[in-house]
Amino acid sequence: MAGTGDFAEILDGDVYKYYSDGEWKKSSSGKTVAIINPTTRKTQYKVQACSQAEVNKVMESAKSAQKAWARTPLWKRAELLHKAAAILKEHKAPIAECLVKEIAKPAKDAVSEVVRSGDLVSYTAEEGVRILGEGKFLVSDSFPGNERTKYCLTSKIPLGVILAIPPFNYPVNLAVSKIGPALIAGNSLVLKPPTQGAVSCLHMVHCFHLAGFPKGLISCVTGKGSEIGDFLTMHPGVNCISFTGGDTGIAISKKAGMIPLQMELGGKDACIVLEDADLDLVAANIIKGGFSYSGQRCTAIKVVLVMESVADALVEKVNARVAKLRVGPPEDDCDITPVVTESSANFIEGLVMDAKEKGATFCQEYKRDGNLIWPLLLDNVRPDMRIAWEEPFGPILPVIRINSVEEGIHHCNASNFGLQGCVFTKDINKAVLISDAMETGTVQINSAPARGPDHFPFQGLKDSGIGSQGITNSINMMTKVKSTVINLPSPSYSMG
Ligand code: NAP
Repeated sequence: MAGTGDFAEILDGDVYKYYSDGEWKKSSSGKTVAIINPTTRKTQYKVQACSQAEVNKVMESAKSAQKAWARTPLWKRAELLHKAAAILKEHKAPIAECLVKEIAKPAKDAVSEVVRSGDLVSYTAEEGVRILGEGKFLVSDSFPGNERTKYCLTSKIPLGVILAIPPFNYPVNLAVSKIGPALIAGNSLVLKPPTQGAVSCLHMVHCFHLAGFPKGLISCVTGKGSEIGDFLTMHPGVNCISFTGGDTGIAISKKAGMIPLQMELGGKDACIVLEDADLDLVAANIIKGGFSYSGQRCTAIKVVLVMESVADALVEKVNARVAKLRVGPPEDDCDITPVVTESSANFIEGLVMDAKEKGATFCQEYKRDGNLIWPLLLDNVRPDMRIAWEEPFGPILPVIRINSVEEGIHHCNASNFGLQGCVFTKDINKAVLISDAMETGTVQINSAPARGPDHFPFQGLKDSGIGSQGITNSINMMTKVKSTVINLPSPSYSMG
């Protein structure tokens, strides 16, 4: 159970502690932040509201711990990460319980998130050993005008202190996707978890504590992003920010100093459906892609662009599947569970009402109870409706009927987002041309958008992000290349 057994030391009364310098601590602020259970809409947990002085202390410890860690052999870093991954998987039940209670993640998906996170950490350890164990050797005479008098040796060195800020929807997985690469590359890491998801993150961090990482190498400061976010992201002790979330990331990018940024932000993933598509496959993918975790996924299908000639048939197939979705509490492993906050539910409702006023066809009745919103397919959506462009982050899916493929590509590319997209057709040649024309970081052919498997490159264009994730790319991003040049007194060419 959460906060008991191995996790008892992270709880003080009914308030979870924060993690600094290898210890679980109470904040001197005396303030706490309540985490509201999206299902009951009552306070489920409380966490410390860390002060600026505590953030300063964490940054100091992170800086000195990193110096020693960078001198720790790669295989030892990997060994500790493997240990943490095993402990994480061993404790999947209490962590999953937190995910159910604080972000209303369906019970089975909550367990999968923890197991996937353990696998990600192990894979990162292995990949790090491979790619950080290699460098480059260059000779000078390949560039015009040079003799072979210089040998250049390059290796990848850590950046220093990495600040990791994940969003609420995959708090554990998107935290470890930053923690693993940071640590294997010899960095220290400061985690600021999302408020909804903080307690899951604190349990996950305790697994790293139990694995025996050095003091100060990993820290976790809790508090509302709106209160401590700017102080953290503009802190002079931070050498790199890895952020996943919404538009907040754009604001952070404008304020951050001259440090590398990894930004994975929102999306409005389009699903383009051609006349020759297998409509049963499309319908199954629209359900999985549009409604899993109630649409609260960055890579959820957020607009369907279907050729008019097959639109009626597709909508009918999707509606038949929508009718089978189980709506209810996450504890019962329902397909559709309450959205994360009341303000999210209100935002989603605003998009629905706008579509209603402007004449969208409601395939189901709009129904809401507290934060629980029943799945809704909106047909005949037009570009003047907000839902055609905005990210609902809820179980509401617009269908726009198109008369040409170009119209679909145009809608996709007119979005300020460019995360992923998908295209359904049996014609692979057409699929590749459409994929090339779509201005998104990834295009899936004949499947819904997805972030995994976690070692695939994952990136967004335009307002969807800066840089690329995926295990290898994240390790590379959290390092810098260092060169050492050996200068010879005279040219030297080795003979065969
Ligand atoms: P969010 O509101 O942007 O919050 C993300 C994180 O930023 C949270 O930890 C939040 O903490 C923190 N934060 C808030 N204000 C901050 C500030 N001023 N400075 C620093 N940090 C601050 O996003 P969300 O609602 O959690 O997640 C939903 C969004 O994430 C969607 O737009 C979704 O598309 C996107 N997302 C993108 C990806 C991707 O990989 N592209 C993956 C998943 C989700 P608090 O919770 O304490 O406010």
